[in-house]
Amino acid sequence: MKKYRWLPILLIINLCFGGLRVASAVQDSNNPNAAPKISKRTIRQAGAIFDAQRAFEILKKQCEFGPRPPGSPAHRETQNYLFTELKKYADNVQLQPHQYKTNGITLQLNNILAEFGQSSGETLLLAAHWDTRPFADRDPKQENQDKPILGANDGASGVAVLLEIARILKQNPPPRRVIIVLFDGEDYGRSVDNMFIGSRFFAQNLGKWRPDYGILLDMIGDKDLSIPIERYSWEANREFTELIWNRAASLGLEPFQQRLGAAILDDHVPLIRVGIPMVNIIDFTYPYWHTVEDTVDKCSPKSLEVVATLVLSIIYDGL
Ligand SMILES: [Zn+2]
Repeated sequence: MKKYRWLPILLIINLCFGGLRVASAVQDSNNPNAAPKISKRTIRQAGAIFDAQRAFEILKKQCEFGPRPPGSPAHRETQNYLFTELKKYADNVQLQPHQYKTNGITLQLNNILAEFGQSSGETLLLAAHWDTRPFADRDPKQENQDKPILGANDGASGVAVLLEIARILKQNPPPRRVIIVLFDGEDYGRSVDNMFIGSRFFAQNLGKWRPDYGILLDMIGDKDLSIPIERYSWEANREFTELIWNRAASLGLEPFQQRLGAAILDDHVPLIRVGIPMVNIIDFTYPYWHTVEDTVDKCSPKSLEVVATLVLSIIYDGL
């Protein structure tokens, strides 16, 4: 992801339509004809069965493949691992292949999509990126800046939470349709032209995968977790974004800070641009961002659990 201070005008226009859509999504959840809500008690049970240690093992497993930039053997191995894991928990798991040409190279990319719960109706998207950055361009040591990053936090953390949630979704069918999408090619390029490749492709080819609203997880494994409100999410859909952070407060999840943070270009922006309300849950204070120090020891199971608790609440109790 990348930090930007100003919104493009086109984005602002699209954001207005996004705001309208979230109002209807909220309204739907209050509709007595909508899918019945399950009890708070059930949410607590679902939260209680989030196995933070198992999620952390999934984070570590991804890192054991090594850096996972597109085109590398580790990228292909990781794709196979994630696809196989999701197949254990969802009947409908698909690769969404797409090619991307840049600088004379053709990248073979794959988003990984999985569907849970009802096959139609209100649809919640949960997303993270599974690729890692090919170069540690923020590393303080110049000799490291062309090396690929391990991406324990920047990549593996969001995927780890979603894979553990996939297990819970299998055991506790959700009262709404939930789709998990693992984006490829998020962190590929040196410029934003060559980033968010998978999410841009997904946003332009939604078809039956079109969600009503969604949550993006990125860099949520930091031991020292701090998650202010991401500004693009808030500018696009204030009501929706505030509902999410208010829920975090009501659940007592202290790392979620009730203040506006930076605007961060990330995989949620292509979806916002096509009118889908999205929040980006991201800790952008991570000191090891885009360095070779983004390693497992900087992350913690507890941080994964904090974020998962909020996501499970949205899954099972709605907005
Ligand atoms: Zn990154």
